[in-house]
Amino acid sequence: MLLRWVLILILLVLAGPSRAALGEAEMARLLPDGYSLGEKDRQMPVWPLIKAGMVAGYIFETGALTPIPGFSGTPMNLAVAMDDTGRLLDVQILSQHEPVFVDGYGPQPFADFLAQYRGLTIRQNIKIGSQYGASDRGGSTSVTLDGVAKATASLRIANLTIMGAATKVAQARMATVAPKPKSLPRADVDQPLSWEELQRRGYVRRLSLSEAQVEAAYKGSGFTDPDAPPDQEGTFAELWVAYLNLPGIGRSLLGDVQYRHLRDRLQPGEEVLLVLSRGRYSYAGPDFVPATVPDRLSLMQAGFPVNIRDMVHDYSLPPGLPPVDEVRLFRIDGSSAFDPASPWTLSLRTIREKGFIRPDREIRDFPLEYALPPDLFIRPERVEPPPEWLLAWGSRLPELSVLGLMLLALTAGLMAQSRLARQERLFYRVRLGFLALTLGFIGVYAQGQLSIVTVQGVVKGAARGMDFSFLLYDPVSLLLWAYVAVTFIIWGRGTFCGWLCPFGAAQELADALGRRLRLPQVKLPPRWDARLLGVKYAALALLLGVALVMPAAAEKVAELEPFKTAITLTFIRDLPFVLYALFWLLLGLVMFKPFCRYLCPLGAFMAVAGRLRLLDWIPRRAACGSPCQLCTARCRYKAIRRDGSIRYDECFQCLDCVGIHADAGRCVPLVVAARHGPGAAARIGAKGGHHAG
Ligand code: SF4
Ligand code: SF4
Repeated sequence: MLLRWVLILILLVLAGPSRAALGEAEMARLLPDGYSLGEKDRQMPVWPLIKAGMVAGYIFETGALTPIPGFSGTPMNLAVAMDDTGRLLDVQILSQHEPVFVDGYGPQPFADFLAQYRGLTIRQNIKIGSQYGASDRGGSTSVTLDGVAKATASLRIANLTIMGAATKVAQARMATVAPKPKSLPRADVDQPLSWEELQRRGYVRRLSLSEAQVEAAYKGSGFTDPDAPPDQEGTFAELWVAYLNLPGIGRSLLGDVQYRHLRDRLQPGEEVLLVLSRGRYSYAGPDFVPATVPDRLSLMQAGFPVNIRDMVHDYSLPPGLPPVDEVRLFRIDGSSAFDPASPWTLSLRTIREKGFIRPDREIRDFPLEYALPPDLFIRPERVEPPPEWLLAWGSRLPELSVLGLMLLALTAGLMAQSRLARQERLFYRVRLGFLALTLGFIGVYAQGQLSIVTVQGVVKGAARGMDFSFLLYDPVSLLLWAYVAVTFIIWGRGTFCGWLCPFGAAQELADALGRRLRLPQVKLPPRWDARLLGVKYAALALLLGVALVMPAAAEKVAELEPFKTAITLTFIRDLPFVLYALFWLLLGLVMFKPFCRYLCPLGAFMAVAGRLRLLDWIPRRAACGSPCQLCTARCRYKAIRRDGSIRYDECFQCLDCVGIHADAGRCVPLVVAARHGPGAAARIGAKGGHHAG
């Protein structure tokens, strides 16, 4: 029966997908609307997104850029499309092995979560909403995405993966959009200056094009301008441009009243340019629609385009400026990556056409360079958001506090185990109460069921270069693992399996219920019992072997544990999984903890790790095992040999034997000693010391 299960699981594993880097055709299928795929970058694993013949963003796989291990220990791989302003166009799942999204909820809630990234930018501080409800998406610099209950830790890793990869691409390929603090114009540089002084200081820059210069630019192209005047000495176009957010420039060019009015109209972070022109060629053009993006002007910074949009106004220019034909203000959106303290270029585009029905076009751009001295700006220090794992710890403080109290109480109880366990009935109630808390609070509420998936993740992390960072994102489990690691040294595996495992607690509560209902109890013959005890070690070897050899399939084999179904997803899952988990719990009504004792790979791992134990902490007498067999008979885990020594690998620290040993009314040698005096006590070894195995 068990071997058949192992075979079925191996087949499931072999059927599991694993994905290599995408090729061109696959990547092309993931393109956002309106973009085509450029040629793959030679230096980094990204593909340019092409729009109107220009690089307008990038699409890339996170797997190659930010391979952060997820909860199964395997990094998720997401396809991220980002435009040239750092806006995320799309995020899609390529592969993921998060236990909760594999067979738990399935991948759809994860895909729905990722859809929220569309339209966000890499300059925003993106947080994940609480696992118990959605939160706001407001604010331009900080956004909180709706979380998925019981999956917050996986979503935090996803967020880190996406933002990390996007930032890397931006820093390498889109210098202007990589998150950096935006320079702010100094408010104290506000003295109005004359037109001449503005030009002398470079606050206003000029582009002057004669007819001859433009003609020379088209020379040999075969394209002519039918409207060109015979006199080539005339002015084709003369442009002036100025950055108005600096008060000294804005006040000089608009006057105090108009400048104040302009400032009141601006949204936070918006920048404004003033563009003046005269000459035959209009930079707006005959088809220009006010309040739109002009065809004939383009703004570039560090090789990337910056969107400018006409700002309708009725401001008039103060006296002292040259006569001009065109006066327009252009706004730059606050969410853009434009940095006013860095150089930028405004280009005037000229277009010549040939033919009638589908005319050929020839374009020439004439650049006007603009740069203001950096000392006119303040560059605020970038406040780095706290690391994602720290946020995870902060958001779980209430659960961590309660868990901390539980662990303290357990430690205190175990240190006073003899006194506690001696009071049989009271101790039984306390134990069942603690197990109910373990199941309800640690397991269902705080989602702290430890799992073999974490052990597999550590194996995979070790194989990949000791990357165990994923453990930090689940603080409740990490605290439990840390506590359990310490208890390995003191008490062995029993502290976790006997007290802190939610599924183990569920089985023990099922046993208590079964006995309460007086259901007949199945007891396997000792030979079978002994054989089956070894199966869990084979299961452990299988699961760790798969994690090493076929990492992508590890979490599928880990379904041998019914923990995810019964505890993490509280049975809200596909029927086969539910039936499997129910099978073990129902069997537990008539057989003592069958899953724990025979099959649990995590229990096997705990037993192996529990060999670190330094103490033989269960008190024994010389009479234990010879002649007294009471504890051996009473230990339901069969962890006491006939000679009275303890098999700590199988001991779940239930303390039954500790209670008997300490109770003068139950410990046989003590009862005999009380009834027949010290002589009898000496004969049967009632005062003997410890012995252990
Ligand atoms: S044997 Fe497995 S299920 Fe049982 S208590 Fe230990 S870890 Fe939990
Ligand atoms: S009765 Fe068995 S399982 Fe319980 S503490 Fe003693 S040896 Fe361990």
